[in-house]
This record gives sequence, C-alpha cells and structure tokens, in this order.
Amino acid sequence: MGRRRQLYEGKAKILFEGPEPGTLVQYFKDDATAGNGAKKGVITGKGVLNNRISEHLMLRLHEIGIPTHFIRRLNMREQLIREVEIIPLEVVIRNVAAGSLSKRLGIKEGTRLPHPIVEYYYKNDSLHDPMVSEEHITAFGWACAHDLEDIVSLSMRINDFLCGLFIGIGITLVDFKLEFGRLWENDNMRIVLADEISPDNCRLWDAKTSQKLDKDRFRQDMGKVEEAYQEVAMRLGILPEATNSDMKGPEVMQ
Ligand code: C5P
Repeated sequence: MGRRRQLYEGKAKILFEGPEPGTLVQYFKDDATAGNGAKKGVITGKGVLNNRISEHLMLRLHEIGIPTHFIRRLNMREQLIREVEIIPLEVVIRNVAAGSLSKRLGIKEGTRLPHPIVEYYYKNDSLHDPMVSEEHITAFGWACAHDLEDIVSLSMRINDFLCGLFIGIGITLVDFKLEFGRLWENDNMRIVLADEISPDNCRLWDAKTSQKLDKDRFRQDMGKVEEAYQEVAMRLGILPEATNSDMKGPEVMQ
C-alpha cells in the first residue's frame, strides 16, 4: 500500500486519508497526555488495546441501533472510519462523582449521582476545553437545538447500554467522554458517534474493589497502567485470559 496522506495528528490518534472518498484511517498511538498536554508519556501497547476495545464497543452499540463512524478494524493499530464533520464538543456523561466534578463541586469521589449528568466542554486546546452550556453551544453555532436533542438522546442510550455491558463484567462505568460528528449522505445529515470509547476516555472501576482500570492510573502516577487496559480488554473477552501480570499488549493480540 502506498503512503497515505496524514490529515491530522491528535494527542492519542492520527487521521489519514482513507482508501475511498468519505473514509479515513484512524491510527491509535501509545502516547498519553493528561492535564491538556501538561503531562506526557507512553503507555506501551495502549494503541493496540484501545483500537480493539473501541472496535468492540462501537460494534455492540451499532447492534442496538446507535449510528457510529466505525466501519471496520484494519489491523492492530488502525481502523477504517467514515469521515464526519466533528462537532467541537466533548460530551461527558457521569454516573458516579469523580474527577473534575468532585473537585469543582466538592462532591465526594464515589458518590452515586441521583441520575446521569451530561456536561459539555468546548473542544479548544488553547482555551483548555472550557465547560459550556447549551446556550453557549447554540449561540455560537457549534450545534443547533435539534443536533443537541440528538446528542443527548444518543448519549443517554449509550450510557444505559454501556453501564449494563460493563456491570456484566464486574466494572462500574463512572463517567466517560463522547464526541459526535455530522455524517452527510446526499442532502441528509445524521449525527453519529465519532472518536473512540476506551479506558483513555472512560472512568472504569472494578465494581467490588473500586480499583481504577483506566487512564486515571496514568494521570495520578498509580502504576500498572498497561495492566489495567489489558484487564478491561480481557473482561470484554477480546484478549485471551492473562497468564501473568506482565503480559505485554502487542504480543498477545492476534
Ligand atoms: O476530568 P473529568 O472528570 O471532567 O473527566 C470526565 C470524563 O471525561 C473522564 O472519563 C475522562 O477520561 C474524560 N475526558 C476525556 N477527555 C478530556 C476530558 C475528560 O476523555 N479532554
């Protein structure tokens, strides 16, 4: 295959031109950042695991009728996706207090919220992704009221489904971040789930012990980051049973 044209490089992924018009190749890196790039590192094998985990979750969501940008996984680190017009919002859904919610509002980490809470952040690195309201979003034209209705209803369906899927494998889905895009088909536009769903953008706690199985292990220098991502993949049934705790991501993937 000839060299593909790189279109965009983000903190954890690179987007290349796809083989057909309207498609892109999404490449998952091992690079990790936290605090909007203030902390940088490499989590060996993360890209391979996130590619598999996100593929699995996007396919399960597709089965329940959630439209996504995912087409198929190409290899260990790449997936073919539909090119969408990314809506410049990070949509965070929370079930349990943690992270910035706990810090900002003084709610004890681990407190179960009375109902899922949706928050929006404007995707803008130089402004440090500030939290915004629906009024800001519609006033500045990032999405219209109808787009937002679709975004909230898709987010709630995704949350219900993923909470059930994760609790079935002994994991509490504490919170997570989604991104959406506009997919144009002729003159019709649909809002679809984009980006990725992985331990990079979810808080996943062991349901019994509350052990963290996500990127907070990197953010908080807790160690055993690769092992946590492997544990999630293994419980999802997309990695063979671990035989020892120092198993490395890439070597065990088929
Ligand atoms: O930091 P905060 O508590 O607001 O994060 C909420 C959720 O959104 C966490 O699961 C975190 O991993 C995710 N997130 C993300 N990308 C960001 C900010 C938060 O994936 N830029």
